[in-house]
Amino acid sequence: MNTDTIIRGSRKTVLIVEDELVNQQLLGFILKGSYNVLYARNGQEALDILHSGQYRISMILLDIIMPVMDGITFLKRAAEDEQIHSIPIIVLTSDNEMELETFRLGAMDFIKKPYDMPDIILARVRRIIEFVEDREIIKDVEHDPITRLYNRNFFFEYSRRLMDSEKDRTFDMLAIDIDRFRIANEVYGRAFGDQALRALGDGIRRILHDRVGIGCRADADLFYVLIEHGPDLRECLDVVRSCMRDGDHQSLLRIRMGAYREVGTEHPISWYAEAAGSACDSIRGNYQTDIMVYDEELYRRELMHERLIADVDTAIEERQFIVYFQPKYAIQGDRPVLVSAEALIRWIHPELGFISPGDFIPLFEENGLILKVDHYVWQESARQLRSWKDRYGLDLHVSVNVSRKDLFSRELSDELQDIVRENGLNMGDLMLEVTESAYAQDTEQMLRAVKTLRDAEFRIEMDDFGSGYSSLNMLCLMPIDALKIDMKFVRNIATSKTGYRIVELVVEMARALNVPTIVEGVEDGEQYELIKRVGCDIVQGYYFSKPVTAKDFEKLIEKEVDQRKNG
Ligand code: C2E
Ligand code: CA
Ligand code: CA
Repeated sequence: MNTDTIIRGSRKTVLIVEDELVNQQLLGFILKGSYNVLYARNGQEALDILHSGQYRISMILLDIIMPVMDGITFLKRAAEDEQIHSIPIIVLTSDNEMELETFRLGAMDFIKKPYDMPDIILARVRRIIEFVEDREIIKDVEHDPITRLYNRNFFFEYSRRLMDSEKDRTFDMLAIDIDRFRIANEVYGRAFGDQALRALGDGIRRILHDRVGIGCRADADLFYVLIEHGPDLRECLDVVRSCMRDGDHQSLLRIRMGAYREVGTEHPISWYAEAAGSACDSIRGNYQTDIMVYDEELYRRELMHERLIADVDTAIEERQFIVYFQPKYAIQGDRPVLVSAEALIRWIHPELGFISPGDFIPLFEENGLILKVDHYVWQESARQLRSWKDRYGLDLHVSVNVSRKDLFSRELSDELQDIVRENGLNMGDLMLEVTESAYAQDTEQMLRAVKTLRDAEFRIEMDDFGSGYSSLNMLCLMPIDALKIDMKFVRNIATSKTGYRIVELVVEMARALNVPTIVEGVEDGEQYELIKRVGCDIVQGYYFSKPVTAKDFEKLIEKEVDQRKNG
């Protein structure tokens, strides 16, 4: 074995296509020492061997003048053949005139007959095989195997090079993303997901067909495209969509596009890509808009997000986060009875003022800071509940929100147990609201997390039921202790018959599962009466009270204590 084969793996195979026996043998003799050698007597025999699938051939040595199928015809067929076109071909010739023609048809080199310089022939074969292998390796490293688009790093590198070499053009950056791709992947399977990605990749190639630019798959379902300035974004999105429509159930997927117009040189390319990405993110789950251009407002919003992220630790230290409580009343008795409260966070920022959770919770859920913030809320809630129990002796629960990210934490159950014990409470005193959409992704993991919590005797409320994707099947699998019906159902209960019927069905379902129903967002008397008639057990909403400070909540407790005394 020579060094060539040691370094580059097992012995390579070379196919000699030559009708003259003497020439065949001569070439074979030169190459046999380093390669496995196969022979064909004309182009057709060569195609048969190549299509047999029996051999991995690293190089073809091709004579031109042969019976049955000559070398020129073979070259043309090879160029169009998926299986063959990447195999390098060296043409064997005694005719100088043919050289140019064969290069044009894709030959990589030629060897002159007679074969009187065996060392040079061997060296040429070896050099070309190595060259082609390196080229393939580079291609693999640079490209995403599913879409054959560039991967992230090479995209950034080549984008800058492209802009440098096309100095008189300006470019736009596009980001394209699939909504809820992970869920689709779980529900319809990986093969479906891959097929969708491939179709999206084809769409991007089509966008780039008649404009200067390059594209990449940057992340699971995130694509970037650097493209000559000024494409009609709507048209681009339609092109991608039309490619995706060809697939099986790809119309089920919704894609979004973000853009940064006129990429400059003051930031690295990745910055512009991320800006296009944020524009794309800003319309996630927004069914009215599917295209967004990065602008001043988005920029300001990002700065604000960065600010909030930077301020979290100080906010916790300085107790800028305030926990509000919104009462929950059991409504099926003679009078509404205060039974519980939901803890809801607010941020009183020293410079920015009052910030509602909608403005920072989703952000912290994305980057994991939610774990810290929720921990703080759980502690505050437990402490508060302890003090109320001591002061009023009332049997009261507090529900806290547990976000999807929290459920991923291994320590979750232990942390919550510690908090409960430190405050001398029972696990059941602190109820855990887990939003329905948490169950839809990573179902197995969520099931496990929720089971662990219930084994520790925590009680789980499924929050926002009906707002997300969880199936009825999931509802049967998931061990829960209460079903919290999403606000949007209350909005329709008074205005439409179907709206009323839907709530009725959900309540029936919950009964079948033997869990009580909680309805949130009840705002007026009419809604309240209907909710009561339908048979819901517990109501939370402005009809009774907005979320209030602990101090104000005490007034509600005092009222309850009075009523129990008098009633
Ligand atoms: P959620 O858990 O679904 O909380 C209910 C939201 O509905 C609260 O908004 C509450 O003020 C509001 N609400 C209650 N009754 C009514 C009503 O009758 N009408 C209307 N229009 N709204 C009503 P809030 O406090 O702004 O919280 C928004 C969301 O932020 C919460 O939705 C929850 O997902 C999240 N959140 C709040 N606090 C925390 C927390 O401590 N941890 C975590 N992880 N999430 C939190
Ligand atoms: Ca909640
Ligand atoms: Ca809710």
